[in-house]
Amino acid sequence: MKAAILREARTPLTIETVELDGPRPEEVRIRIAASGLCHSDYHVMSGDLGSAFPIVLGHEASGIVEAVGSDVRDFKPGDRVVTCTSIYCGHCGDCQDGHNHLCSVKPVRENPQANSPIRQNGQPVQAFCNLGAFAEEMVVHQTAVSKLPEGMPLDIASVLGCAVLTGIGSVTQGAKVHPGSKVVVLGCGGVGLNVVQGARLAGAAQIIAVDLNPSKLELAKKFGATDTVQGGPDAVAQVTELTGGGGDYVFEVVGIPALQREGFMMLRKRGTLVLVGIAKPGADLAIPALTMLVRETRVIGSNMGSVPFQRVIPTYAQLYLDGRITLDPLISQRIALEDINRGYDQLIAGETARSVIVFDH
Ligand SMILES: [Zn+2]
Ligand SMILES: [Zn+2]
Repeated sequence: MKAAILREARTPLTIETVELDGPRPEEVRIRIAASGLCHSDYHVMSGDLGSAFPIVLGHEASGIVEAVGSDVRDFKPGDRVVTCTSIYCGHCGDCQDGHNHLCSVKPVRENPQANSPIRQNGQPVQAFCNLGAFAEEMVVHQTAVSKLPEGMPLDIASVLGCAVLTGIGSVTQGAKVHPGSKVVVLGCGGVGLNVVQGARLAGAAQIIAVDLNPSKLELAKKFGATDTVQGGPDAVAQVTELTGGGGDYVFEVVGIPALQREGFMMLRKRGTLVLVGIAKPGADLAIPALTMLVRETRVIGSNMGSVPFQRVIPTYAQLYLDGRITLDPLISQRIALEDINRGYDQLIAGETARSVIVFDH
């Protein structure tokens, strides 16, 4: 099969032929229909996130089950599915507490680097997050897969497993935003736009979208933003004025400590800053400690939407089918696997919310 391979950081991806081994007893083999270009993969491309090489990136995919291992009961060939990075064991303390997205005993293959299902000339090729979705097919653990309802288009569905899940989940499960809240969203890419519509679903009274790119702000209005603010030195003052003293919730969806600090300064008393964007490993957040105490503010993180994705993804798909959430404008363009480097250039330049690779099998 064809796959986009990263041989080392800061080099272009190359389209190469690789082999796929499996499924083993607990695994599912999926023919990928569509695969979204997410910023998280870029952290490996840029070298911010260390990795073994060569690697097939990609983690936000939809597709059709081709084969299942002997121990798989919940999926069968022909099922239409979405993948997610939140592979879980079901038995550890975090899973038992109902937070399987935080599972630390992920039931992947033993020594997954050496035993990666992706091979080339007998040598392992790494699968990003034990998925590897920039390829025509993937072999993944059964707990990385969620079934889609009838009628859900596969190209649209690809974004459910990361952008939609992370965005909406951070509002409804991570922060548990209450109706009537004033919500501020810093960064309106694929995830940020879903924070905006998550806030709308949660009944927020005011949703202020902040971004450097005016076209993203226009897009944010389609997802439910009531106000928009151009990112920059005046943003804190503008948000404070628009909200009459600060937001109840500020979501930082970029992962830059300076912007996280700005978000903190946008909070009203007892407000909550929610960290959703992936910061570089080792980056520290500096906030004025006395202000935090005096104003009784909170800072929390939300990882992959803080949700049990296998239960939540069918729900989000149904919300789309019922016209209660917007997904179509999220997909800026549909591209071929061969266009992946251009797609990432556009993402980093802030020109696109989501580019989705559509496979023509
Ligand atoms: Zn677990
Ligand atoms: Zn992602």
